[in-house]
Amino acid sequence: MTRQDPRRTILVVEDEPLINQMVTDRLRAEGHDVVQAHDGPGAVDAFVAHEPDLVVLDLMLPGFDGLEVCRRVQALRPVPVLMLTARDDETDVLVGLHVGADDYVTKPFRQRELVARVQALLRRVARAAELAATASPSRTLGSLVVDGAARRVTVDGGEVHLTPLEFDLLAALAAEPGAVVDRETLMRDVWGWSDASGTRTLDSHVKTLRAKIGADRLRTVHGVGYALEAR
Ligand code: CA
Repeated sequence: MTRQDPRRTILVVEDEPLINQMVTDRLRAEGHDVVQAHDGPGAVDAFVAHEPDLVVLDLMLPGFDGLEVCRRVQALRPVPVLMLTARDDETDVLVGLHVGADDYVTKPFRQRELVARVQALLRRVARAAELAATASPSRTLGSLVVDGAARRVTVDGGEVHLTPLEFDLLAALAAEPGAVVDRETLMRDVWGWSDASGTRTLDSHVKTLRAKIGADRLRTVHGVGYALEAR
């Protein structure tokens, strides 16, 4: 992290004491204020008490699980959530459930990777605030309309409800209709990653976006990236 980055409060929720402390120590070393919780109810209480800027959230927790924590805190206030999962394929399932997590890291993870993801999420939130302050153009692609200013999407005149991340992904593709946007560009522009390793998150979010706007509108270019059909 650079010296210009503001100090953030991060809530770390993990019931395995060693992992919790390891993540906490590392994020503190990066200059963040870190609050710890070790179970579901404790996580919601800590969220209310400390108003964190970001939550690192283990999936399997005593009390109630990370999904329920995510639902409860997102209902209180939108907050970026980085979910810790035990298996890679859980990410597909979780994204499909629309629990409101922005990114996922599979255990075991490297500390450096976790820190990079946390910083990327914080940058993403800061950039989204900047984008919201500037009017983006509205794009019409056949019956699909992407209204950047209102952050609304309609298909055949009916509104489609997208998560903030799904909207940013669609807007990135809609900026160049018909053109292939490569994976690295999407990971950088939408997620704020500086390197595109572990882009399963991208594929999972493309899958849910397809389900919402129509599968045939979003073309996969294998090994390269994705394109939004210009029709
Ligand atoms: Ca656990």
